[in-house]
Amino acid sequence: MKLLNCQNNSERFIGILFENKTLNLTKGIQLFSSLYESKIRIPILIEDLLEIENLSLYLEKVLVFIKHHNLTNTLVVDTYKILPPIIRPSKIIALGRNYLEHAKETGYNAPREPIFFSKAVSSIIGHEDKIVYPTWLTRVDPEVELGVIIGKEAKNIPEENAIDYVLGYTIVNDVTARDMQTEDLRIANPWFRSKSFDTFCPIGPYLVLKEQILNPHNLNIELRVNGNIRQKDNTKNLIFKIPYIISFITRHITLEPGDIIATGTPSGIAPIKPGDVIEAEIEGIGILKNIVIEG
Ligand code: MG
Repeated sequence: MKLLNCQNNSERFIGILFENKTLNLTKGIQLFSSLYESKIRIPILIEDLLEIENLSLYLEKVLVFIKHHNLTNTLVVDTYKILPPIIRPSKIIALGRNYLEHAKETGYNAPREPIFFSKAVSSIIGHEDKIVYPTWLTRVDPEVELGVIIGKEAKNIPEENAIDYVLGYTIVNDVTARDMQTEDLRIANPWFRSKSFDTFCPIGPYLVLKEQILNPHNLNIELRVNGNIRQKDNTKNLIFKIPYIISFITRHITLEPGDIIATGTPSGIAPIKPGDVIEAEIEGIGILKNIVIEG
């Protein structure tokens, strides 16, 4: 199932892709719950769905209800703005050098342990929002990455149970002020500021529930700038795989529902400039598109 956060004028609601249409899932759940359950809090955004146990199964039931009562046409929405699939997670954790070819192109070997860092949550934007390029920066690069969305609190999780804590997947563009990052690395300063400018974390357009992605480690991943391919790889080449990443992170930090893990970018990093159109695509998830403007 592909879920998206939507806004139409001032109304926000969850959308779900169903038979090539977007349905207003918030309204669908409202109708479903008025008939079958009285106590549910109506979810307005995907974040609100995290409270529902066995979400995938629950949504299946709602879809059967919609179909059975011929509500598809009533619930179809045509005009809406797509919001980020998670608007304010408690944190974004990103992996560094998690594809060998990318580690090499930045002058490093494969790391022995996952390298993880944080991006400010205020850097999140959605599909078709603008990436604002501060004029005083000398180089900014996009980085396409498979994003993992956490579904429930996770602390000290063994690798074999780790996928139980995943809600689904999305696309993350880990936009980076590259010259700043390189200089900060040189003087042994953290990466945080170069990764955290406002608008430097486009995510979306969809959150695809994990049940729909048979193998997250076999997805083609690509980044295009003005239609030209810059990065092209497959998630099978991730050095550290998702269960290990979750297990490793949760030895240090508790992951909370809605948290986003960006699993690292493949090789092919190169600068962008104002006016560029960036498309980050992952098989089975979609295309996350953003235009760069000067700011
Ligand atoms: Mg990255």
